[in-house]
Amino acid sequence: MNKTDKKLAQIKEEVLKCQKCSLYKTRVLPVIGEGNHQAKIVLCGEAPGFNESKTGRPFCGNSGKVLDELLESVGIKRQEVYIANILKDRPPQNRNPQKEEIEACAPYLERQIEIIKPKIVGALGNYAATYILEKYGLKEKIQGISKIHGKVFEAKTSFGQIRIIPFYHPAVVVYNQNMKRELEKDFKILKKFQK
Ligand code: URA
Repeated sequence: MNKTDKKLAQIKEEVLKCQKCSLYKTRVLPVIGEGNHQAKIVLCGEAPGFNESKTGRPFCGNSGKVLDELLESVGIKRQEVYIANILKDRPPQNRNPQKEEIEACAPYLERQIEIIKPKIVGALGNYAATYILEKYGLKEKIQGISKIHGKVFEAKTSFGQIRIIPFYHPAVVVYNQNMKRELEKDFKILKKFQK
């Protein structure tokens, strides 16, 4: 195990025991994150759903299928990227994350990003976009996802310059197939900056 793997494994140990917010009470499996530890792209979702909390894997249900197709549409393999969520535990009935839950859990994501040191952070959906933009000093750029999806924001981090790209959450396609084209268009930007 190299240093990066060890640091990520340490986060896993902590999350498995975490009781920083009440979501641990209904935990089945936490969804810590998975993918390439040297990824140029980190994709950040909101929180695990039913399937994810059963398997411990991010985006493995209906939204995951859409995400896989989107990545495939631009020739990026899922194994090339790292995927994690703001919340590591599933909120009951998939309700929206609460402020205290985000405050308690997001430091794990921040550490994951700092360890992996990606060039691009793709924020999937409103919660992730809002959180990531604020975290990296771009609070004034925050708007609803329909306004900022597919835009590229430059940000400074402790490990250098990154690009933040907000996307619609892949789940929108589950409810509205027409959104797939919109997402595919935005995902092309990922490919462009991946090099
Ligand atoms: N939705 C998310 O935001 N994350 C997942 O892991 C699954 C669905």
